[in-house]
Amino acid sequence: MKKDVLVKVCLAATFLALALWGGLPLLRHRHFDIPVVKGPGVTAVLRLSEFSPGLKGTAGDTNVYVLEGREPGGKALLLGDTHPNEPEGMLSAIVVIENAVVEKGTLYVIPVFNNSGSRTTRPGDGYPLYFDVVTDGGRRRFRYGNRDASPLDQWPDPDVYIHYPEGQLLSYIDVRNANRTWPGRAGGSLMERVTFGAMELMRRQKIDVAIDVHGAETMYPVTNCIVAPESSVKIATLASLTVKAMEGFESHVEPSPSGFRGLSHREIGDHGPALPFLIESPIPFLDQPTGPKTTKFLLDGKDPFLLALSKKKKLFVPYDESGWPLEKRVGQNLSVTLEILRQFSKKTAGRPIALRGVPRYADVVKNGVGHYLADPARAASGGVILN
Ligand SMILES: [Zn+2]
Repeated sequence: MKKDVLVKVCLAATFLALALWGGLPLLRHRHFDIPVVKGPGVTAVLRLSEFSPGLKGTAGDTNVYVLEGREPGGKALLLGDTHPNEPEGMLSAIVVIENAVVEKGTLYVIPVFNNSGSRTTRPGDGYPLYFDVVTDGGRRRFRYGNRDASPLDQWPDPDVYIHYPEGQLLSYIDVRNANRTWPGRAGGSLMERVTFGAMELMRRQKIDVAIDVHGAETMYPVTNCIVAPESSVKIATLASLTVKAMEGFESHVEPSPSGFRGLSHREIGDHGPALPFLIESPIPFLDQPTGPKTTKFLLDGKDPFLLALSKKKKLFVPYDESGWPLEKRVGQNLSVTLEILRQFSKKTAGRPIALRGVPRYADVVKNGVGHYLADPARAASGGVILN
């Protein structure tokens, strides 16, 4: 009898030790904040809950950086981390916040759009919890998150996700995907309240252009592209042709399918004033048939299995020994963003959006992403915002 109790106590202790060993890093990751330095153009920092009160005090609330120009003009919204396992979106947004000076118009930037998803990880896929970018002042650490919101913040999942307001039936997992819950609603699920906040911001501030920045698998056809609905396809095409001619990289235009609901590039235009664009740059780390999901692979995009598949023409992007490094991904996102804003300004009288200080593709490829990230330790007092 005594021996029995001893075995049970030992088993319980082992279980507890394993749970702590596995759980504590996840707890620390959930509470790890990313410092962002208020750049020279930041004029205010708002919270998304100011536009969607149902987010107040929840893990769905997030920072909205406002960069108001000296001269009036058009308005744009830039979103990063809609999918927090595609960090080239968040990093592009942070580079803009820390470097841009807006001369005409106003820019709104939300670097961590799905804050809940950025504070969790993907079970079973061996994702790293963090990654570091080497900057001129040392390393900066960022959370690496999951595609979907954490079940700690939005639970339970339904058997079938019914999109609001269209009623389309979608996969249950997409109920926590911030790119399937547009346009959202005030009293809906957490992700519906997040997208509703952005829709309200766009409606109240009369945003002209919304750019949702992503990364996508090299084996997925919708990659290395600008996704645009009918209303924004002209500007997307001009931006695509210009970056190809002037900067030498490909970013083709994909039409936004009108029958597939819940996506930013569809619902933003249908429910608000902004012209929507979704940018994808290739992120080999997200492909399935690869080697270990290491931080190095996340950053340099180099993988021998993808290289072999590329030779068999199984990828939708050119791929060689140089991989698809973060510099190229962030550089492409920034150049395409700047080009969309420039083309919009050319075509729309009285609504110019002009900014300076944001590096383009060639600059980022040459100098690295870290060169354009500020040093939080050297920021002025009150100049660092936690995200
Ligand atoms: Zn994405």
